Amino acid sequence: MAELPAREATEFDVVIVGAGPAGLAAAIRLKQLSRDIAVVVVEKGSEVGAHILSGAVIDPIGLDRLLPEWRGEDTPVKTAVTDDRFYYLSETGTLRLPNFIMPPLMSNHGNFIVSLGNLCRWLAGKAEALGVEIYPGFAATEVLYDGDVVVGVATGDMGLGKSGKPKENFTRGMELRAKYTLFAEGARGNLGKQLLAKFALDRGREPQKFGLGLKELWQVSPGKHRRGLVQHSFGWPLGNSTGGGSFLYHLDDNLVSVGFVVHLNYANPYLSPFEEFQRFKTHPLVRETFAGGKRLAYGARALTEGGYQSVPKLVFPGGALIGCDAGFMNVPRIKGSHNAMLSGIMAAEAAAAALAAGRAHDVLAEYEEGWRSSPIGKDLWRVRNAKPLWSKFGTVAGIALGGLDLWTNTLGFSLFGTLAHGAADYASLKPASECTPIAYPKPDGTITFDRLSSVFLSNTNHEEDQPPHLKVKDPALQKSSEHDVFAGPSARYCPAGVYEWVDEAGAPKFVINAQNCVHCKTCDIKDPNQNITWVPPEGGGGPNYPNM
Ligand SMILES: Cc1cc2nc3c(=O)[nH]c(=O)nc-3n(C[C@H](O)[C@H](O)[C@H](O)COP(=O)(O)OP(=O)(O)OC[C@H]3O[C@@H](n4cnc5c(N)ncnc54)[C@H](O)[C@@H]3O)c2cc1C
Ligand code: SF4
Repeated sequence: MAELPAREATEFDVVIVGAGPAGLAAAIRLKQLSRDIAVVVVEKGSEVGAHILSGAVIDPIGLDRLLPEWRGEDTPVKTAVTDDRFYYLSETGTLRLPNFIMPPLMSNHGNFIVSLGNLCRWLAGKAEALGVEIYPGFAATEVLYDGDVVVGVATGDMGLGKSGKPKENFTRGMELRAKYTLFAEGARGNLGKQLLAKFALDRGREPQKFGLGLKELWQVSPGKHRRGLVQHSFGWPLGNSTGGGSFLYHLDDNLVSVGFVVHLNYANPYLSPFEEFQRFKTHPLVRETFAGGKRLAYGARALTEGGYQSVPKLVFPGGALIGCDAGFMNVPRIKGSHNAMLSGIMAAEAAAAALAAGRAHDVLAEYEEGWRSSPIGKDLWRVRNAKPLWSKFGTVAGIALGGLDLWTNTLGFSLFGTLAHGAADYASLKPASECTPIAYPKPDGTITFDRLSSVFLSNTNHEEDQPPHLKVKDPALQKSSEHDVFAGPSARYCPAGVYEWVDEAGAPKFVINAQNCVHCKTCDIKDPNQNITWVPPEGGGGPNYPNM
């Protein structure tokens, strides 16, 4: 490859990677503490919010702490939860769990139904008003080091062709250098993954666990809309040994957000999270909500599920992990945005204090030492056994035991201590020869849909002539193992139809339709050989979610 020109470097006090709730909360807090702190946020989406996909019912604890006056302002937080329901589903049956048996921490009373993307857009406005520089359309692709100290990040080059050669529109990436760099990339951050390895941040911790969340936004008939209703289910269409469940949130303007999460430690390579989601919508409890409605948007994103046991060491010389890059998601509550904001605030406070003391490029020990006794630690501690119990005992017994454990933890103790998760998700697939293929019904085009028409609604767009952003380390292994042993699960777990095994002159060929990728990160997590690595494509590429 031709030698590229040197990158221009700019110095800041704090560089933040990712404009999600964690990154934006950190940026705002830094400027609240001192307007003199120079803060920049880079965001790979074409605009803030373009890559944000969440439920979302938010616990306002983070917002209350960051911007206590928000309730008096014009915000995208408009719909209070008024009705909170929890169901167990069989194929045709419905069992509603009475609210009084639910542990208090599961209650959504006082929470709000929002588009997290729109909340981030609003937070970005707040940050900019305080003087934060936000660069949307710029992906951080490289951590910059001085020896073993993180000194910033570099953004990716623009205008490289497929082969890696500069095209006419080539623009070199920038070096954003900082005294402290906060990584807020969300679940399975690409740079976060490199930092975990470089600084062995996950040594002595349980492996991180993940789920894949798929979501659609619908405009439903006014007669079917129940503003403020929040509904969760578990059970059908998943079998007892596969973890996951649904959410269905009625926002304002006749909008309903419906989604399905599949835990990525499932075993059957024939399982398709996308098709499970489509099937779920045909259940008698939910089908009627969508009859006569219009699907407006679709998307998917991985979420972290390891919780307390899997949180890595958060700090290293020159920086820290915040939000879901660190894995602060609360699985039974399906909530992570509050902890994302709280962790951004904590890291910002540690960084601001360090800067005020004239420090730079060292370890923000206050953040690492403080999170367990903070509201984040308390939130995650009480639910730490929910996921391992579900994985170990299956849905019915696992949820019953998990519920018991949530109750006892509310009272201050657990019968189980702290349970381990065991293996990482990529190791849980069984060879196809030990599993039964699953026959999914064909989409009806009104309630259920195929992948490509769904991806269309994610407004995903990538420059086609650019280096591949889905890197297969060993193509021969993909054939001998992913295809021959596991029957090509990538074609089913990818929610955007990126991967296909096609027949080419009698031999299977692995085809990657990278332009469809919605950046959910599932391939990076679930490939049974860890042979696929997701790296950020050219900045601005990927989905353009409107109100997700
Ligand atoms: C289907 C689903 C439903 C959920 N439901 C809820 C819910 O109801 N309530 C709730 O509280 N939580 C929910 N969550 C979890 C919640 O969305 C996350 O906890 C939260 O978004 C984490 O915030 P974050 O800022 O850490 O990361 P994210 O929100 O993922 O934001 C990360 C940002 O960083 C950007 N980025 C990533 N890498 C780079 C890079 N290299 N360079 C530049 N930019 C980069 C991304 O584009 C993105 O904008 C849900 C999650 C999913 C997937
Ligand atoms: S290619 Fe990977 S990251 Fe992209 S949508 Fe498919 S599974 Fe998700």
